[in-house]
Amino acid sequence: MRTILFSVLLALGFASPGLAAELTPDQAKAREIFARLISFKTEVGLGQVPVMAKYLADEFKAAGFPAEDIHILPLGETASLVVRYRGDGSGGRPIDWMAHMDVVTAKPEDWQRDPFALTEENGFFYGRGTQDIKSGVALLAANFLRLKKEGFVPKRDFVIVFSGDEETEMATIQDLVNHHRDLIDAEFALNSDGGGGALGEDGKAKIYGLQTAEKTYASFEITTRNPGGHSSLPRADNAIYELADALKKIQAYRFPVMWSDTTLAYFKASGAATPGPVGEAMRRFAANPRDEAASDTLNATPAEVGKTRTTCIPTLLRGGHADNALPQSATATVNCRIFPGVPVADVGKTLAGLVGDKVEVKVIGSPAASDASPLRPDVMAAVTRSVHAMHPEVQIVPVQDSGASDGLYLRAAGIPTYGVSGMFIKDSDSFLHGLNERVPVQSYYDEMDYWYRLMKDIGGR
Ligand SMILES: [Zn+2]
Repeated sequence: MRTILFSVLLALGFASPGLAAELTPDQAKAREIFARLISFKTEVGLGQVPVMAKYLADEFKAAGFPAEDIHILPLGETASLVVRYRGDGSGGRPIDWMAHMDVVTAKPEDWQRDPFALTEENGFFYGRGTQDIKSGVALLAANFLRLKKEGFVPKRDFVIVFSGDEETEMATIQDLVNHHRDLIDAEFALNSDGGGGALGEDGKAKIYGLQTAEKTYASFEITTRNPGGHSSLPRADNAIYELADALKKIQAYRFPVMWSDTTLAYFKASGAATPGPVGEAMRRFAANPRDEAASDTLNATPAEVGKTRTTCIPTLLRGGHADNALPQSATATVNCRIFPGVPVADVGKTLAGLVGDKVEVKVIGSPAASDASPLRPDVMAAVTRSVHAMHPEVQIVPVQDSGASDGLYLRAAGIPTYGVSGMFIKDSDSFLHGLNERVPVQSYYDEMDYWYRLMKDIGGR
């Protein structure tokens, strides 16, 4: 999950203490599942994702889901879990409900509490994955169980799609798309691992981001080569100088300004709530994305530049082999965040054109690119209703993330995907991927009901 940076919208204030209240049976079940999930050490390389998937599969079986609708799909040391909740078929093609079961590695010695035990303290649930994204796994699962128990029959199939390595290789989602398309094919997907709400420091809901797009992540190696020689006999040609020249050309280049219905809606809404020159630039850009002064201001604002264009920046450097030898090669890694809809190869061609024929430009791996998902009115409306049931009036803003997650692969495969987490959290409480990861207890139970309403709403029409 990538946090939505609404920090500009937040003001300083005070935390309100959470009060322990009596849990309803549904809340108790959602808490029990959450606690179990946190206890599985689903870091990369430990082989615990299939064990956790088995626990969840047993829960679905116990709730009455037929075995043939529950699929654990192993891949290396990890696995995916796919569960079909059969509808009556009167309301269209299936909907995917997404999360990932793996977590970022946590070193217990660095944490104040055991990262693999759910701890409730000071109004928070602490533990690795509480925010990213075992809360999503637990709440989607708990609501499938809850709706089944209530005898709810959706008008279209619901499909749980839990991947097993989103934080590292993202191979399980690709395996699902490429080899199990029949199991996960859907009209669209709703991803708990994206979007979500921001609380102000006063604890009040500020804004809700509905994620419709993610930028493509692609890295390129830029390499210069040279016959080398003895450093006591220097020549004008030199692999390190030539690499430096190539990087200066990339530094001087700006990719063209781009926009989509999502980014314009985002800048319009954020501009209305952002003071100063940045807010003014947002408003002007939303009104006219060809306004160069506005895009220049956004270009100079790190939190916003990625929403206006493709960006490429050097991140790693290596070269030479001895301090008394002329370098035979020098390589820089340039990391690009590519605007949705732009092919990776086009960015490679642009870089190659900038650095010239004598410099090699090679893409690392085979990054997938995806378009932005269209703003579907039915999804916007249903999410808005469910968000407003917990936080009336909060503004719903479409967002494009500068990072990338599993959703990218579904979008690339033609399944529009929306990040619609129901979690509301303060920026200052968010320790995603970091130490002492936590979510507010109240936000967890609120999100439980958020998914419940959303499933009944979107599955009942
Ligand atoms: Zn995540």
